[in-house]
Amino acid sequence: MHYLTDYHIHTRRCGHAAGEMEEYVEAAIQRGLKEIGFSDHLPLVTHRDPELTMGEEELPQYVEDVLRLQEKYRGVLPIKLGVEADFIPGYEEQTLRLLEAYEWDYVIGSVHIISEWEFDDPRRIGEWDSRDVDDVYRCYFDLLRRSAESGLFDIIAHPDLVKKFGHRPQADLREEIERTAESFRKAGVAIEINTSGLRKPVGEMYPAYSAVEVLQQHDVPLIIGSDAHRPEEVGQDFDRAVAWATQAGYRETLVFTGRRVVDRLPLNETEKRQQRPTA
Ligand code: ZN
Ligand code: FE
Ligand code: FE
Ligand code: ZN
Repeated sequence: MHYLTDYHIHTRRCGHAAGEMEEYVEAAIQRGLKEIGFSDHLPLVTHRDPELTMGEEELPQYVEDVLRLQEKYRGVLPIKLGVEADFIPGYEEQTLRLLEAYEWDYVIGSVHIISEWEFDDPRRIGEWDSRDVDDVYRCYFDLLRRSAESGLFDIIAHPDLVKKFGHRPQADLREEIERTAESFRKAGVAIEINTSGLRKPVGEMYPAYSAVEVLQQHDVPLIIGSDAHRPEEVGQDFDRAVAWATQAGYRETLVFTGRRVVDRLPLNETEKRQQRPTA
């Protein structure tokens, strides 16, 4: 279906995903993806939580598993070694030390935590009731900018994850989004259109369409990711992501190797290939 990459794929090691890694690879082949990358959650540097990330002692085995699959599927489907790392201010050094230990093809940076509150964790949803939603959004975008400026990451994931459960700000936050796009541009990070929001209470991709436009106008490069936590989610709803991206003016997506952009894939070619009749 899609001649694209999916760089946002989890594994069972994180404690909240299902299926074998091979099943994710097979699903990607079924969908006709050009290339994929695993990006399981990097162990949290602040504390252990087996329902959120693998333990640090599992990291070598995770890397080995990805490299083994890379060999197994050589010539069939390129498989990249990636990781999704939390941005936790004050812990940049610890995060860097963990990241430095391996030769990632790309590192995805995520804000899931605002001052020790995992705001997107269903176990902590109750805490939204005691929060000012506008404040939460402002804190979130501030952390997002700092994550990009930290230099730790190549790609910033789901850049309005804060809307996951459907909490919407009262305030007009266009200014925040503008500033965030400028910060991304300066930091040289790519952003992700993440289709997993369609499977969450908010029922909308991350980020909102209006933000995709702002990011495009600021020349922030783009990748598309599914955030698959189950094999069947690999490449899911990519047609919708491509539609948003092209409508906003995006023409291409990036290919990463060794934490560098080594190629660009046209989104248009994707559309053409998609229209080609299949037997
Ligand atoms: Zn996850
Ligand atoms: Fe995430
Ligand atoms: Fe993820
Ligand atoms: Zn994610």
